[in-house]
Amino acid sequence: MKYFNKKLKIEGISLQNIANKYDTPTYCYSYKQLKKNINNFKKNFKSFSPLVCFAIKSNTNVNLIRETKKLGLGADVVSIGELMIALKAGVNPKKIVFSGVGKKTNEISYAIDKKILLINAESESEIKEIERIAKLKRKKIKIGIRLNPNTDARTLTQISTGKKENKFGVDKKTFFKLLKYCKKSKYLELSCLSVHIGSQILNHKPYEKMLSVIDKIINFADHEFEFIDLGGGMGISYLNKDKKLNYIKYNLAIKKFLKKHKSKIIFEPGRSIIGDTGTLVTKIIYIKKSGKKDFIIIDAAMNDLMRPALYGAKHRILPSQKTNKKSKTSYEFVGPICESTDKFSTVNNFQLLNENDIIAICDVGAYGMSLSSNYNLRPKPIEILIKGSKTKVIRKRQKHKDFI
Ligand SMILES: *Cc1c(COP(=O)(O)O)cnc(C)c1O
Repeated sequence: MKYFNKKLKIEGISLQNIANKYDTPTYCYSYKQLKKNINNFKKNFKSFSPLVCFAIKSNTNVNLIRETKKLGLGADVVSIGELMIALKAGVNPKKIVFSGVGKKTNEISYAIDKKILLINAESESEIKEIERIAKLKRKKIKIGIRLNPNTDARTLTQISTGKKENKFGVDKKTFFKLLKYCKKSKYLELSCLSVHIGSQILNHKPYEKMLSVIDKIINFADHEFEFIDLGGGMGISYLNKDKKLNYIKYNLAIKKFLKKHKSKIIFEPGRSIIGDTGTLVTKIIYIKKSGKKDFIIIDAAMNDLMRPALYGAKHRILPSQKTNKKSKTSYEFVGPICESTDKFSTVNNFQLLNENDIIAICDVGAYGMSLSSNYNLRPKPIEILIKGSKTKVIRKRQKHKDFI
C-alpha cells in the first residue's frame, strides 16, 4: 500500500474507489504482497526446504487459502471446520497438520479418514483417544506430540503459548512418558515433535532457546523424529518503531540443529504470510469534539477487527487522501459499538480529517476477519482481493436478512 499523487492505493486501486464501489467497511487484500511474503518466507529457509503449513486460523477465506496453496503452502488447522475449508481450497491432505488442545472424537475421526499428514496431540488423554479411534479403523496413525518447551516468547502475554502456565502442549516429563507409550502402541506412530511458543515474536532468541530445549529432549529420547514442527509465530511490524525478526539468525540456528538431527522441518506461519496483505477500508461517520481530543467515529468496529479490544494491539491508521493540514487536537479512532473497548488508537498530530473521509486501518490480514463477529448485530464486511488493477469479491458482505 502506497501513496501515488497523495492518493493511497493498494496495487493499482485507490482506497477511495474501493469505498465508492463496494461501500465500507471493506477488507482488501493485495495478491502481490501475499506472493512476496510466501516467496520471502521460503527463501529465508531454502537450504532445508521446509514444509510450510499456512495457519488457517489467521485467515479462513477459502479464496485466499487457495492462493496460498497455489503458491506451494500446506495448511495448519485447529478444528474440523478449518480442515474442511483447507480441503475445499484444494490443499493436499499430505500437507495438512492438525493442532489444538481439544479435538473431539468426530474431528479426529474425520482427520484420519482424510489421511492428513499429522495430528499433533497435546495431552495424554488425546493420544489415548486417537489410539482408540485408530484401533476401531484398524489403522496406524502418524502423530506428533506438542511439547511445551517452557520458553518465554517475549510477546504479549495474551498470545504467548510456550510457557508452563499456558494450556498448550505437554511438559518434558509427560513427553517422555507418552513417547514410551507410543513406541509400544500398534496403532500410533510417533513421527513428529511439535512446538509453537507464541505469536508476534520479533526476537530470534526465544526461537534459539526453543531449539536448544528440543535438541536436549531428542538426545535424551533416543528416538528419530521424521518431522520437527517448529510452529509459527514470526512477527510483523505493525508500527514503524517495531523491530524486525532476524530470519538470518533463526535460519542459522535451525541449520545448526539439523547438523545433529536429520528431520524434515515443518513451519506453521499465519501472521507473517497474511498479516500485511490486508487493509480495512472504513469511512468517518461523525467527528465528535470532546475537550482536548476529538472522537473520530468510523464505520468499522471491534466486531470487524477485534485485535485492539482483545489484546490492546495497535494498527497504523492512514488517510486515503493526503493533505498538508494538521489537526491541533488529538484524535481517538472509535467504532459505533456500545463498549468502551471499541477503540482503535489515539493519535497526535494526525492530518486534519473531515466527516465522510475514507481511512485505512493497516495490516489486518491476520486475525482480522477471522476473529470478526456479529456483535451488536452488525453484518460482517465484504472481502476483496486486488491483483494489479483488478478487484475480485472473495466474500460477500453479510446482509441483515441473514440474521433476521
Ligand atoms: C496460531 C497458531 C499458529 C500461527 O501463529 P502465527 O503467529 O500467526 O504465525 C501456528 N501454530 C499453532 C499451533 C497455532 O495455534
